Amino acid sequence: MENYKNIIEDIYSDVKKVDDIGKVANYIPELAFIKAANFGVHISTINKEGFGVGNFDKKFSIQSISKILSLTLAYKLEGEKLWERVDVEPSGNPFNSLLQLESDLGKPRNPFINSGAIVVCDVLFNHLKNPKVDFLNFCKEISNNATLNYNEKVALSEKAAGFRNIALTNFIKSFGNIKNNVDDVLDFYFHICSLEMSCKELSEIFLYLTDDNFTTKNGNRVLTMSQAKRINAIMLTCGFYDESGEFAFRVGLPGKSGVGGGIVAIHPDKYCITVWSPKLNEKGNSYKGMLFLEKFTTKTASSIF
Ligand code: GLU
Repeated sequence: MENYKNIIEDIYSDVKKVDDIGKVANYIPELAFIKAANFGVHISTINKEGFGVGNFDKKFSIQSISKILSLTLAYKLEGEKLWERVDVEPSGNPFNSLLQLESDLGKPRNPFINSGAIVVCDVLFNHLKNPKVDFLNFCKEISNNATLNYNEKVALSEKAAGFRNIALTNFIKSFGNIKNNVDDVLDFYFHICSLEMSCKELSEIFLYLTDDNFTTKNGNRVLTMSQAKRINAIMLTCGFYDESGEFAFRVGLPGKSGVGGGIVAIHPDKYCITVWSPKLNEKGNSYKGMLFLEKFTTKTASSIF
């Protein structure tokens, strides 16, 4: 940890000084109120050590990072049949695109673009009695963190301005790949996106994808080794919308971003690291987050390649 600690501190002070050319997301009105200067980093290792700098303890809207958690629960409950509803190919298109859905007959390219995550919510809807409560309880259990919660204001704000997602869901339903009521599925999706966590909490909750031997407090495995490998593979190839290739090229780790400015990245068998800086580049990924992680894997020589 000492080695990581010094490197993180050095890179943090370098990247803090960099002129941020990104922009805070404002298409979800509530997100526009976030202070752009927030900047936090936290690492958690499989030896149960942790270290953070800056605003690493402040909760923020994790947005699409939550898609890893909804995918995890759906994969656990549905098994391999899940892939009949959603594919595992990079889309090479923006996160909210409708373009490929028509030629792909309503089967989203992957579970990390909006269309794919909405189908995953629909799958969960068939398994869970009380979807919002049950999903939150699942997150609390795997993180051993009872403080996790949705941000109702953010969920409502996204719902009020969610024209794209409403269009996507109706379009997919026209192909028969949404089985439940569109408004119910979207309400669930918006809540999942509104989950709030700090960098520290994020780097802890994803240890189940980092450590092959991870079990919850009750001794339960979250996923099989094969399932965890597959989710890491989808993160590597699809975790950054149409910038997934660029992230693999510059950082070299499975990861996932969200329009709240967070990024998680996983080094299997070593660590999970999270960065939060709200200003996004033109592809919707945190500008300083990507920069920080590129420097981090370079200086620690710890990418998966
Ligand atoms: N809730 C956001 C949306 O559906 C998530 C986007 C993201 O973080 O990529 O647009």
